[in-house]
Amino acid sequence: LSLHGFEGIKWYRPLRLQQVLDLKSLYRDAKLVIGNTEVGIETKFKNLQYKVLISVTHVPELNILSLNEKGLEIGASVRLIELQKFLRKVITDYPDDKTSSCKAILEQLKWFAGNQIKNVASVGGNICTASPISDLNPLWMAAGAIFQVISCKGNVRTIPAKDFFLSYRKVNLTYDEILLSIFLPWTRHFEFVKEFKQAHRREDDIALVNAGMRVFLKHDHGTLEVLDASIVYGGIAPVSLTATMTENYLIGKKWDDILLQGALKILQEDIVLTENAPGGMVEFRKSLSSSFFFKFFSFVTNELN
Ligand code: FAD
Repeated sequence: LSLHGFEGIKWYRPLRLQQVLDLKSLYRDAKLVIGNTEVGIETKFKNLQYKVLISVTHVPELNILSLNEKGLEIGASVRLIELQKFLRKVITDYPDDKTSSCKAILEQLKWFAGNQIKNVASVGGNICTASPISDLNPLWMAAGAIFQVISCKGNVRTIPAKDFFLSYRKVNLTYDEILLSIFLPWTRHFEFVKEFKQAHRREDDIALVNAGMRVFLKHDHGTLEVLDASIVYGGIAPVSLTATMTENYLIGKKWDDILLQGALKILQEDIVLTENAPGGMVEFRKSLSSSFFFKFFSFVTNELN
């Protein structure tokens, strides 16, 4: 479907991936659009104008929802409401061990906007907007998700979610690439992923601070040692922020109270919010970031018991 409107605006709704790629190579500055919940705000309130819009809602390759022995494949155009339904089914059909990331994403979606937004908004739209308060991006990063992107020439490359967000609303995509899909690996035995979000209102509000956290433990002679950890925050920097020093501190440590106290100290160095940081409420946001880690520690300890 192709519509041509006022002032030369062109709107396309291709049905095949190849058509999307052809259009994107023909119109270098074309804007992809799915739910329009970000693009609509840019055009209506920020006065941005896009001459060519490509709606990728109807492209089967971008709407994949599938499973294999390694994890889940989620197309970039998949609506959040569809993702919610899919994850609910996966969680009932598969063992607990494998679905810790799925549960965390599903739980976060509960607090993500309202149903009107979730009915149209997409996974890819949220990722590519790269908002510093995206509720999902810290989780994709913590869960070790891998993004698949495709160029107009059909070349596919994979990028770990943790390397995708470059700076404020800037992602690791060249002008001729689009996001194709997201691969979310199953979690392993003794691997736990958890979501966090604090907003002014409990429902339908954007986050003040949010986070995605993951730990992978090894059971060894009655003790539990951290093999790997990811601690990622939203709402405290221009991009979703990895607490690198805290992650490094955790690796190799025993999962006990000493680890908790040490991690809470190191977090203070990772989370640097100056007095005049955008968003304000500096002390509150700092204490939220510590509380999230405390809650994560309690959550994992509870799961282990
Ligand atoms: P669109 O507006 O269609 O597109 C967004 C951007 O992504 C565009 O730049 C587009 O070109 C690009 N894009 C889309 N697909 C691709 C692709 N395949 N490859 C490359 N680029 C692509 N966000 C939260 O995180 N949490 C919330 O609680 C939340 N609440 C909201 C409440 C309201 C009322 C509104 C209006 C927004 C809210 N948002 C929230 C933000 C927004 O809804 C999400 O970011 C949403 O997932 C965007 O998806 P979309 O399909 O509408 O994106």
